[in-house]
Amino acid sequence: MSSDLPDWQSIGYEHIWMPYCQMKTAPLPAAVVAAEGVRLELADGRSLIDSLASWWSVCHGYSHPYVIDAIDQQLRRMSHVMFGGINHEPALRLAERLAKLLPGDLNRVFFADSGSVAVEVAMKMAIGYWRNHGQSSRTQFLAFHNAYHGDTTGAMSLCDPKRSMHASFGDGLLQQLHCDLPGTPTAIEQFERLIAQHRDRLAGVFIEPLVQGAGGMRFHSVETLQAIAACCRKHDVLLISDELATGFGRTGSMFAIEQAMVDHLEVVPDIMCIGKAMTAGMLPMAATIASDDVFAAFYDDDAGRALMHGPTFMANPMACAAANASLDLFETEPRLQQVHEIEQQLTEQLERCRSLDRVVDVRVKGAIGVIQVDRLDHVDRLRDAFTQRGVWLRPFGDCIYTTPPLVIGQDDLTTITDAMFAVTQDWATWNDANG
Ligand SMILES: *Cc1c(COP(=O)(O)O)cnc(C)c1O
Repeated sequence: MSSDLPDWQSIGYEHIWMPYCQMKTAPLPAAVVAAEGVRLELADGRSLIDSLASWWSVCHGYSHPYVIDAIDQQLRRMSHVMFGGINHEPALRLAERLAKLLPGDLNRVFFADSGSVAVEVAMKMAIGYWRNHGQSSRTQFLAFHNAYHGDTTGAMSLCDPKRSMHASFGDGLLQQLHCDLPGTPTAIEQFERLIAQHRDRLAGVFIEPLVQGAGGMRFHSVETLQAIAACCRKHDVLLISDELATGFGRTGSMFAIEQAMVDHLEVVPDIMCIGKAMTAGMLPMAATIASDDVFAAFYDDDAGRALMHGPTFMANPMACAAANASLDLFETEPRLQQVHEIEQQLTEQLERCRSLDRVVDVRVKGAIGVIQVDRLDHVDRLRDAFTQRGVWLRPFGDCIYTTPPLVIGQDDLTTITDAMFAVTQDWATWNDANG
């Protein structure tokens, strides 16, 4: 390894296993030593604009002093304590605030330590709900093509069977139902027939409302979401909304389902998962929130009807303090207005990418900008090209996309969209042999 690497990397890299990574062929990761605002500082002195907000999470920018302060105070008082048999103020205040903030009667908050675990908990809630209603055959789920719901084995079974890591695990996964998101009246009829046909073994339908994230960055309409929800209601199947990526302002409203709720309360899910930006990207935390009806199925004199789950670091007090501070910032700063401005700027500035070779689609929703290409190759070289332009961007699937921190300024966002245009234009001329 070259000698200008920091020694912690040249020595430690021999012992680290990186995510989603063929360690033999992957280039060295960026050596990041600090992060502030929208910028990552590299060990060699360069700085990069983070166009991804660290996987959607850093909504208020890095090192926000208000959130740091809240964590710091909590750290000094009580950094962690088990949640089994114990309550603490940061968790109960947060639960109450979330219940107020979330639509409908999503009133019962179960804390988890990662999004995938929150999805596992949602699956267990749904299966337990039907078992406690005497319908123990209802253990399967329906999820959509291009879906991504996490990397643990249960969550993985919900992901798109073709476009995810499904294939590598095959028979090791739970068997679920998968279908296209119904986008036309005919497709909606087919979807309804599918639900009706499998109703007796279906516990619930999992959906990422309006925006599918890591499974393909696909968007669907409010009407599609409403039709799916109506179908779940009609056939009495639980609707489970995975807002891990879309929650906390990303799509232009605090939660994506809010955009489909006007005159359509049926879209309020029975169970909802949130995470990622929940702690402003400061600490790992997620939550599964149940409706009054779902909770009621477990609420009984019989201990055997309880929900059996409890992560060690559940409701970590520092994470709760960060989440409470983040909610304060959503109340005191014009975050949703900023998302609206980002959406307008992305729409204007990415439009020109539509005419580039190999570009299949350009789309924007809230603070999400996507260039979809015919087939993504030269991924490592693409990342390098972005780095040379001062932008941290990691193309994925068939998309070159940005999900910037919601506080990004106009000039920094222009740097990102200029780089997306120029790099995609260059990339289309690279031929495969130059790999
Ligand atoms: C990130 C994500 C998950 C998994 O969350 P982790 O915290 O990475 O386990 C699940 N569903 C969606 C929609 C996500 O974006």
